[in-house]
Amino acid sequence: MFRDIDRVLIDREAIAEKVRALGAEIAADIQRAIERHRDPDDAQVVLIPILTGALVFTADLIRQMPVMLSLRVVAVSSYPGKSMASKGAKIAGELPTDLRGKHVIVVDDILDTGQTLAVVKKLIQEQAPASVRICVLLRKPESARKEHVEADYVGFDIPDEFVVGYGLDYDGFYRNYPQIAVLRPMVGSAVTEAGS
Ligand code: 5GP
Ligand code: MG
Repeated sequence: MFRDIDRVLIDREAIAEKVRALGAEIAADIQRAIERHRDPDDAQVVLIPILTGALVFTADLIRQMPVMLSLRVVAVSSYPGKSMASKGAKIAGELPTDLRGKHVIVVDDILDTGQTLAVVKKLIQEQAPASVRICVLLRKPESARKEHVEADYVGFDIPDEFVVGYGLDYDGFYRNYPQIAVLRPMVGSAVTEAGS
């Protein structure tokens, strides 16, 4: 079924439990922010998932957030550098341009080098939103960072390993694998059948 899965790092029950807790925490923070508005009905909350990796996480997360919010997706592509060090991130489509005065929550699958979230956060901040918060399911260690980015909500801190599943891909595949897993080392080797 799913070739080359070496081991599961975070299983589906642990993910589900964490997503429930994150959704409740973010929703409570949003509610507090809304109540600080002179007219709470004026407060607007916009959740911005970064495609494609945040798709699965976002679908589960928003259903754990009983608040009025709208969803605006953004696609970010890594621009190909000759080395990892010269790689970067750029917005592939359009970023919403009407975020002024709104409470924005950016959702991504993983905080790695920080380049993606640094670009997105800067472009959002230029629009003078009421607040910007970042939520990631996974966070690699600080040593992986090339840009300083703090995530306000983090599901799991993981080692600096390449992971797939629950929205994260390898070469476009494994996004539908329901847990977070590590692939078997396969550089230059034939692809072999693995469990689950
Ligand atoms: P950044 O390096 O800009 O923080 O992360 C950029 C993007 O690289 C993430 O949104 C994610 O899509 C991808 N990425 C980073 N680390 C991993 C990983 O371990 N596995 C997978 N599948 N994608 C990753
Ligand atoms: Mg991504």
